[in-house]
Amino acid sequence: MPDINPRQPSYLILGAGLAGLSLADALLRQGVCSPIVIADARDSFGNDRTWGFWDVYPHPYRSLVTRRWQHWSFASREASYLQSSTVTPYCYLPADRFYEDALTRVHAAPNCTLLLGTTIGRVVEEAIR
Ligand SMILES: Cc1cc2nc3c(=O)[nH]c(=O)nc-3n(C[C@H](O)[C@H](O)[C@H](O)COP(=O)(O)OP(=O)(O)OC[C@H]3O[C@@H](n4cnc5c(N)ncnc54)[C@H](O)[C@@H]3O)c2cc1C
Repeated sequence: MPDINPRQPSYLILGAGLAGLSLADALLRQGVCSPIVIADARDSFGNDRTWGFWDVYPHPYRSLVTRRWQHWSFASREASYLQSSTVTPYCYLPADRFYEDALTRVHAAPNCTLLLGTTIGRVVEEAIR
């Protein structure tokens, strides 16, 4: 565990999923040097899901997308609609590619500690004095 200086902001991130890892990654990309500790109950990372989304906003994980569709259709028994967009294609991003990419920077950062096999039992909010 890194030394925690109460005068310096430090970050404890609960969960090393998409939200937790992308938050840690964003802090590192912004040059945050204060301690970042990420705790997760899991022991390892695998291809446990995929993310499908319309690529509307710029993000740092575009190069990890393995498939893009510029045409898609919605269909019911009554009707079918074909839609197209070259600007915001529908994307497919497998989780293992994201984990590997984000974890490379997390492991390389001297101020970042990843605690696996760590189950958080309870979170208590207290006022900061
Ligand atoms: C099969 C599947 C497909 C999906 N497809 C899409 C999709 O296409 N598009 C989309 O937007 N969403 C999809 N989702 C939803 C998906 O859950 C979210 O997109 C995203 O992964 C949520 O990120 P998260 O970090 O909040 O949660 P997660 O990625 O689930 O991460 C939460 C982390 O917290 C850890 N954790 C939980 N409780 C504790 C505890 N008490 N102590 C310690 N660690 C803990 C878990 O181990 C986990 O690693 C899909 C989900 C699944 C399961």
